[in-house]
Amino acid sequence: MTDATTTETRKFEAEVAQVLHLVTHSLYSHKEIFLRELISNASDACDKLRFEAIAKPELLSGAGELHIDVSWDKDARTITIADTGIGMSRDEVVANIGSIASSGTRRFLEALGSEQKADARLIGQFGVGFYSAFVVADRVTVLTRRAGDAPDAGVKWESDGRGEYTLESATLDQRGTTVVLHLKADEDEFLDGWKLRALVRKYSDHVAFPIRMPKEAAAAGEDEEKTDEAPQWETANDASALWTRPKSEITDEEYQNFYKSLGHDFNDAAAWSHNRVEGSQSFTTLLYLPSQPPFDLMMGGRDERKGLKLYIKRVFIMDAAEELLPNYLRFVRGVVDADDLPLNVSREILQHNRQLERIRGACVKRVLDLVEKLSRDEPDTFAAFIKAFGNTLKEGIVEDHANRERIAKLLRFASTRGEGEAQTVSLDDYVGRMAEGQDAIWYVTADGYRAAAGSPQLEAFRARGIEVLLMSDRIDEWMLGHLREYAGKPLRHVAKGELPLDEAEKAKQAEASQAAAPLLERIKGLLGERVEDVRVSARLTDSPACLALSEYEMAPHLARLLREAGQDVPGGKPVLEVNPRHPLLQRLLGEHDDARAADLAHLLLEQAELAAGAPLPDPAAFVQRMNRLLAG
Ligand code: ADP
Ligand code: MG
Repeated sequence: MTDATTTETRKFEAEVAQVLHLVTHSLYSHKEIFLRELISNASDACDKLRFEAIAKPELLSGAGELHIDVSWDKDARTITIADTGIGMSRDEVVANIGSIASSGTRRFLEALGSEQKADARLIGQFGVGFYSAFVVADRVTVLTRRAGDAPDAGVKWESDGRGEYTLESATLDQRGTTVVLHLKADEDEFLDGWKLRALVRKYSDHVAFPIRMPKEAAAAGEDEEKTDEAPQWETANDASALWTRPKSEITDEEYQNFYKSLGHDFNDAAAWSHNRVEGSQSFTTLLYLPSQPPFDLMMGGRDERKGLKLYIKRVFIMDAAEELLPNYLRFVRGVVDADDLPLNVSREILQHNRQLERIRGACVKRVLDLVEKLSRDEPDTFAAFIKAFGNTLKEGIVEDHANRERIAKLLRFASTRGEGEAQTVSLDDYVGRMAEGQDAIWYVTADGYRAAAGSPQLEAFRARGIEVLLMSDRIDEWMLGHLREYAGKPLRHVAKGELPLDEAEKAKQAEASQAAAPLLERIKGLLGERVEDVRVSARLTDSPACLALSEYEMAPHLARLLREAGQDVPGGKPVLEVNPRHPLLQRLLGEHDDARAADLAHLLLEQAELAAGAPLPDPAAFVQRMNRLLAG
């Protein structure tokens, strides 16, 4: 326990100091965001107190209702944001604003560390919003007292943001936190009632607690000399919980503003869904699809505090994205307000709560409905959405069996019918134009669009006019392992198994194999241990060779990635397919020099491996072989 009477100077933790350096030197546009971030912290503090007061109502005694006051002082050149929320003890101040409060700090540094000039609006996304105070202030004073503590247990924290802060004890007659910003020399524009009021309305209108500002004297200027009278306060924001209002009374702009502060995002949401369910169990959901992915979306992690907020009868209970949505919908932002859950619910209880399961089911349904609606009615927005979040959605194929078909319907893939990577198709498009007698949905996987589109295995499909989906995201292979069929049609890799040949083609293929028997034997002999088998390919028309995969074999590019990542991937020997009509194979057949024949055979295998994204076991030997043949 710290001795609360001492005054001390402490150093910020190294990473906080870095954040502060970045904040003061690089954040240049939208500086006004500091106000939203500090009000957001004040609002969080009020939420926390209201929640704690469920079990300990006495915490609310004293400072009356929960509210946030914003004021300014032209002479002192300060802006003050004061709340009557939970407050902080001395130890909490040190832990929360002197050291790393969240893993967001490191991510913030990674994301912005190299930027010379960054947009200040980014800061809230990383859970380091408090430090935005130093965008406009060169000194910040925090006076705080935790609810329930004695008046003399208050704390005064102060810093110029340059590496150190001071802590001293203070006697404060109210609980809660007051943040005083001593503005930098050129930030006087914020010392203006109109300006501040406009910012509150713009960024914090929806905050569910009253944000009060001093009533301005009728004629500014004349009446400006100070009186001892306490200022008269008026509420500057809407101060109602947006989701509790009827849909018909909420404008799009209000929905968008609410989204922005909820998700600490500065882009508009792509779409939202606002619903009230009445009945044996009543609850309200307001769910948003962002238009841009947050920084951490694909880093696997999910920031608990930026997903879904759970309220019970309008009291904020906790950030409960994990309890309310499966991981593959982690990009959804919003609010769930349940009427019938017990207020003293804990995270442990939530995880096994029947009612919550029902709400979770409803949230998933709403989100999928919303994405479907977007795909039907707003093709451009949908295209942008799926580009940003399609890969995350693919995780749902693995994670959410019950909705697999619905999710699959929403996905979009590049295809041999599209021109380029951007022109994607749905599985329904594909199935709708399947050829007579075509009994499978064909795809190829590779580690890039061009590698997929250039796969030699596609040649036979092109020749037959059969469309092939081109999969080139890392997640595709994993997803396809779980998406065995769609609309009753099996999904098949072009390199795997038998091709769909008609009787005449089969006869031709058998004939070709027979005719090529001596060639195949020769190649097998030359390649020896490097191959499992050598066959005549039905897949090739122009290329000399390709690899074939067995039914459950992992695509070579993926096996390579996993091995590089240190995983143990069982690897068999490849099956080489060749095209006997190709001049290279003709040449191999007629080659009398055994050494040259061996070079040719190895190059056939190695080019097939390269095209499939497999690693060459001996790149130097490959280069020597190639040069010998080129020179010869
Ligand atoms: P975040 O709000 O995302 O946690 P911030 O940098 O904005 O990140 O705030 C850091 C922490 O400081 C908060 O999580 C909270 O614990 C504490 N804090 C900031 N402002 C207040 C306040 N007005 N009242 C109580 N605690 C606060
Ligand atoms: Mg904050």
